[in-house]
Amino acid sequence: MSIDRSRLRDLLASERAEYARRNPRSRELYDAGEHLFGRVPMTWMNKAAGGFPLGLDRADGARVWDLDGHEYIDFCLGDTGAMAGHSPAPVVAAVAKRFGELGGATAMMPTQDAEWVAAELSSRFGVDRWSFSLTATDANRWVLRLVRAITGRPKILFHSYCYHGSVDESLIVCDDSFDGADRPGNVGAPVEVTRTSRVAEFNDLEGLEKQLAQGDVAAMMMEPALTNIGLILPEPGYLDGVRELTERYGVLLVNDETHTFSAGVGGATRAWGLKPDIVTIGKAIGGGIPIGAYGISSALAESLLARSDLDLIDMGGVGGTLAGNALSLAAARATLSEVLTADAFSRMTALASSFTRGVQDTIDRTGVPWSIAQLGARAEYRFASPAPRNGSESVDAYDADLEDFLHVFLANRGVLMTPFHNMALMCPVTTEADVARHTELFAEAVDLLVGPAS
Ligand code: PMP
Repeated sequence: MSIDRSRLRDLLASERAEYARRNPRSRELYDAGEHLFGRVPMTWMNKAAGGFPLGLDRADGARVWDLDGHEYIDFCLGDTGAMAGHSPAPVVAAVAKRFGELGGATAMMPTQDAEWVAAELSSRFGVDRWSFSLTATDANRWVLRLVRAITGRPKILFHSYCYHGSVDESLIVCDDSFDGADRPGNVGAPVEVTRTSRVAEFNDLEGLEKQLAQGDVAAMMMEPALTNIGLILPEPGYLDGVRELTERYGVLLVNDETHTFSAGVGGATRAWGLKPDIVTIGKAIGGGIPIGAYGISSALAESLLARSDLDLIDMGGVGGTLAGNALSLAAARATLSEVLTADAFSRMTALASSFTRGVQDTIDRTGVPWSIAQLGARAEYRFASPAPRNGSESVDAYDADLEDFLHVFLANRGVLMTPFHNMALMCPVTTEADVARHTELFAEAVDLLVGPAS
């Protein structure tokens, strides 16, 4: 069953017209943003299927309200930053206490929460020396410096079309050459990316080995499942093969769990029994307050701390003034102890399974050539079947009009998906009724796309 493109264009145009009609205050906010670069506080917010972004009024749990008073079931959840739900009560209380009552968010002094959070992350992810940043991007950047310092090798290996934040080294993709190339659109790259990086496709052990065998790779940084180019799951044996090859070639393995944290309390690392040397994470663990973190093995930590040639204390390139601040850590302690618990993950995962079944039923009934994948609390559909196996295949399945149509159709009826994905994330207070509403609307949208049965 293929999609009739002119029907799709008509449907998208009429949904966009309805979006413009429904959202005059959001439009006004956008038009008033004359001193903002791109009319938004951050240029990514221009990724708006309706033509302009919805302005935020307030948010609570699994709900957001826009400036025109519409209520939404939020499956975007800040693209994982709000996986704990918006402003969960234990985090609000911890933040109010730390910032309001006790003060000192930027005092540059350690608090008792830091060791608690580090110990919790150690027991969840299996690596035992932790340090904090304000974003996952920075955790990744600092780790890349550390792995080069440890190994004395210059390059980092990434998967093609991975995303690890705005990290210079990671903006590399496979092309016809052995070395790969800059990711299209790479803004002002400091040096040609092939000087700092190597690249292999996800699920391709043979290609990976050829790259690692060059002997210049300090570390492989990966998500155990790709989550930023659709959701691409590892094939059986792939992750074992990655660990075996990285060990064989003396390459450190870094798991970026920022999104794959959806797999459970200890992310995919714990859910799948993985043994990385280093884990990085961010977003969700702060319950909405900025934080990032990286954990390294005690052996690596000790060897770094023993090095007199590395400036880990001042201007050596690792760290930040507000990193590890008291407020972030108070929020993370509340989030990990009271919100993103094992119980919450089992409920969230059950909801994502219902979501997946609902979408799959419509795919099966209508015969559209799409697929859906699930990783714990998140699920994502892709306009390809069978599901893409790697980043390049997934890029080929991208369909801007189709994605925009589904996003605007859902938004016009009170459901938000993640702007950069067809991704839905469950939080601890998402309900079965929320999922059922998506299932119903998704079926309605696909029925409109395929038209009446002939
Ligand atoms: N790692 C992964 C896997 C991500 O998906 C992202 C952001 N989407 C990041 C790191 C960077 O997170 P942030 O933008 O909060 O720094």
